[in-house]
Amino acid sequence: MRKHIVAGNWKMNNNLSKTENLLNELKKQTKSSDAEVMVAPTFVNLSHAFKTLKQTDIEAVAQNMHFAENGAYTGEISADMLKSIGINTVILGHSERRAYYNETDASLAKKIDAALANNMRSIFCFGEELADRKSGNQETIVASQIKNALFHLKADAFTNIVLAYEPVWAIGTGETASPEQAQEMHAFIRQLLSDKYGDAVANSVSILYGGSVKPNNAREIFSKPDVDGGLIGGASLKAEDFYAIVNAF
Ligand code: PEP
Repeated sequence: MRKHIVAGNWKMNNNLSKTENLLNELKKQTKSSDAEVMVAPTFVNLSHAFKTLKQTDIEAVAQNMHFAENGAYTGEISADMLKSIGINTVILGHSERRAYYNETDASLAKKIDAALANNMRSIFCFGEELADRKSGNQETIVASQIKNALFHLKADAFTNIVLAYEPVWAIGTGETASPEQAQEMHAFIRQLLSDKYGDAVANSVSILYGGSVKPNNAREIFSKPDVDGGLIGGASLKAEDFYAIVNAF
């Protein structure tokens, strides 16, 4: 059975005291689903979050990392640095990173390789923009993002890859892909994996949906057979809302 995963991406929100408050609120929540739970605080609070969450079933994960092991990359963070503070999972290729920091599938392929070389799990994000959806090109775009960033990998690498389909037009906009649109794309992605790597790999990879998932729509989205969880932005900043989504499985 595929893992259910609900991951909260806190983005550039929460200073140290707000991070402490939210972590404390999260620790008070009760999980009634089988979902793996992750939260991604900003880098400066990541070590603190890791230590605070150590005895819980919530994993602290990173929002990004550089592909180089070390060197002259001012302001960047390496896989080795993340591992050294206990972090084993990293979100890569979020649409905001692609849009504002020029991340490309080629640079993301290198980041994926760096994560794998350091035995880290990647949550690889991708998704079409509104114009692509309007012109009916969403599958072409998503297929090229996945092929260009991941299809150089060997099949066994996929034990450390989680996919996150995030249509850009649904992120932070309040607009959600309908459960049917999400299912259609997730099934397409799984078929793409199957064509390249076979059914065993395709059926083992968790594919998350992201884009305005809230307590009031999570259950219906998660009920779709190829939706294995969610990457949550805004609604992950309130512990009760986030756990209402975690418990929607
Ligand atoms: C995200 O940033 O990955 C995201 C899905 O944000 P939101 O839930 O706020 O749309």
